[in-house]
Amino acid sequence: MHFTEPVYRNPYWPTWPLLEVTRGCTHNKCKFCTMYKGVKFGVPSMETIEEDLAELAATVPHARTIQLLSANPFALPYDKMAPILEKINEYLPEIEHVYAAGRVTDVRNKTVEQLQALRELGLNEISLGVESGDDWTLGRIDKGYRSEDIVEQCAKLSEAGIDFWMTFLNGVAGREHSRDHAVHSAEVFSKCNPMLVGTGGLTLFPGTPLLDEARAGEFDPLDERGLLEELKTFVEHLTCDCEFITHHTIGGVNLTGQNFLARKGQIVAALQNEIEYGDLDRMARVRAMKATL
Ligand code: SF4
Repeated sequence: MHFTEPVYRNPYWPTWPLLEVTRGCTHNKCKFCTMYKGVKFGVPSMETIEEDLAELAATVPHARTIQLLSANPFALPYDKMAPILEKINEYLPEIEHVYAAGRVTDVRNKTVEQLQALRELGLNEISLGVESGDDWTLGRIDKGYRSEDIVEQCAKLSEAGIDFWMTFLNGVAGREHSRDHAVHSAEVFSKCNPMLVGTGGLTLFPGTPLLDEARAGEFDPLDERGLLEELKTFVEHLTCDCEFITHHTIGGVNLTGQNFLARKGQIVAALQNEIEYGDLDRMARVRAMKATL
């Protein structure tokens, strides 16, 4: 198999085969991220992809699921993505479920009809690292789109019948804009009605512009209590009935599961309990040990 480091496997599907159809990230500018900094965005040749598919056909011939790599393979335009999906179906004829990560801007280069065609070829689940629905925050972290783009592009995914995840990056707006980030994100996410909302807490990793700004006093990061309070505000304002997951441990509290609206009160209560009684020093120590996403 041909893999270019770093390889990010969706942690919720640890056994799915991986197939590299892109290398790196098309954007590579988000101020909190260094994950693909040393990797130039590229697309392997179809010959290389077919070599990997032949290997998968020999090792997991009955695979029904597959994850495409790398940061945002959904950036591939329709006329590049469709032939890859056709090859996947050819080599792995039992495939039912192709998953890829993408940026909101990656939906722009495809019509609803093209998205429907990709879904019919198996690409039926996309995760969007949205991070925020607040325009000030999106500009501050250089995400490269605005809230109206999120709503517009997610509506296309819904119309095409492609399920999508949206992630909220807890803490990325800093202290002063925390409430706007939480409330506006919840409003935008609710409008988009994703199948799943994931949240992760900001860690300032070495090499990120946001850490440099924090050291220079230009970014005021939230402490663990502030992160929990912001997450609670986000949850309180979220009104779509999605699956809800947290990417990071919150003091051992299990907030993850389906039927968000039925569980919303419990989640809010658990977060409030954690704010009042949680071992926030331990949470800060755990976060400080993280080396990467
Ligand atoms: S957060 Fe995602 S889109 Fe932004 S630079 Fe990192 S990999 Fe690329």
